[in-house]
Amino acid sequence: MSAKIRLYVEHPLGPGQSVPLTRDQAHYLFGVMRLAVGGQVALFNGQDGEWLADVAEAGKRGGVLSCARQTKPLQMPPDLWFLFAPIKKARTDFIVEKAAEMGAARILPVQTEFTNSERIRQDRLQAHAVEAAEQCGGTYVPEVSDLQRLDRVLDAWEDRQLMFCDEAEVGSVLRLAANETGQPWAILIGPEGGFSDRERARLSGLSYAHVVSLGPRILRADTAAVAALTMWQQALGDWS
Ligand code: SAH
Repeated sequence: MSAKIRLYVEHPLGPGQSVPLTRDQAHYLFGVMRLAVGGQVALFNGQDGEWLADVAEAGKRGGVLSCARQTKPLQMPPDLWFLFAPIKKARTDFIVEKAAEMGAARILPVQTEFTNSERIRQDRLQAHAVEAAEQCGGTYVPEVSDLQRLDRVLDAWEDRQLMFCDEAEVGSVLRLAANETGQPWAILIGPEGGFSDRERARLSGLSYAHVVSLGPRILRADTAAVAALTMWQQALGDWS
């Protein structure tokens, strides 16, 4: 039997390992979820797989869990980065949540020429990625980077294929060509305003870029994110 509640902790997990809880975690488990001593929780930390743990101590401001046995090994997602231009707050939250569920290994918000927001709350977005991993049964949490300029990210690019989702290709039949699996990849989705001509020219000229169309309709950035991740996972990722 596995526990219904899954919790991400920043603590080593192993046989008999005690895991102290933070105030927030204790509040969630004992205050909100009404767990008591003897109750069970599934724990993961992004490194040691998933562990079934028993509540050993339960308090208002803290508590201790004790690892019983491993219930899942660490399951790493494919080496896939997800680059996107942040949009409105709620939709940006959605994109991070979906990218984590869909199996991105790293999430990189990028500032493009037509990106409106100049700031993001990296800590909030990281918390969304943690929640998504807790909810979807993942044993890994993708790191969410701070906002970086797209041109700088490209300047520092190393050995990685790039699926460039270009709205200018709407209606064309450019899809991901068959390629070797197991390679490092990235997906790039633009902002509501799309890519500038300059960005499009640079991106299309990159030897590692694969220009892709997401069908005959212009999708909103959050829809495009899920569609692109689906397309990539189906062709090259861990869906097969
Ligand atoms: N305002 C732009 C659309 C931007 S859509 C326009 O009207 O042209 C936001 C992002 O989603 C785009 O930058 C692109 O990365 C992706 N996208 C949306 N629809 C797409 C499609 N049909 N093909 C490829 N990419 C698409």
